[in-house]
Amino acid sequence: MKTMLTMTVAMIAIVVAAGSVTAAQTKPAPKKPGVKPPVAAPRKGTKPMSGEYNKLTQDEERILVYKGTERAFVGEYTNIKDAGTFACRRCNAPLYHSDTKFESHCGWPSFDDEIAGAVERKLDIDGFRTEILCNNCGGHLGHVFIGEGFTKKNTRHCVNSLSMKFYKKGVEIPATIKGAKLGAK
Ligand SMILES: [Zn+2]
Repeated sequence: MKTMLTMTVAMIAIVVAAGSVTAAQTKPAPKKPGVKPPVAAPRKGTKPMSGEYNKLTQDEERILVYKGTERAFVGEYTNIKDAGTFACRRCNAPLYHSDTKFESHCGWPSFDDEIAGAVERKLDIDGFRTEILCNNCGGHLGHVFIGEGFTKKNTRHCVNSLSMKFYKKGVEIPATIKGAKLGAK
């Protein structure tokens, strides 16, 4: 009898102990003060890298990407005569040196030559004019006209100010961004 009682007490003790273990396992782990739950690692590509062109304003995008034209005589570079380099506003590729800029009175910045290899020519969608594009990113620059007699080179690159960014002589031009070219198949 005494043995039975001892066994019963022992069994109850085991059951209670087992219950408390189970309870301990199912309870949520106590939160440690000051320890924050892990967060997702920051997304890669938050800093500028290959393939990500400069952010454009709506007006710049309308010109460079959708081949728009800036109104005549309002562009910020139409009349500047400072020495320096004009680079593509979308990808930083140098396009024109200031010593090829001339006064055409047409209302847009005019150049009689491009930096070698910087500009691509294409028959315009109007079927008459020759469109000029940045040879690196495919951004629309304007049109080129031949035979008007403005300069000895007899060439006028008529370029939207919004397609370019001017870097005064001595100011470093940011590295050209290499990415998917507009219009490339
Ligand atoms: Zn470009």
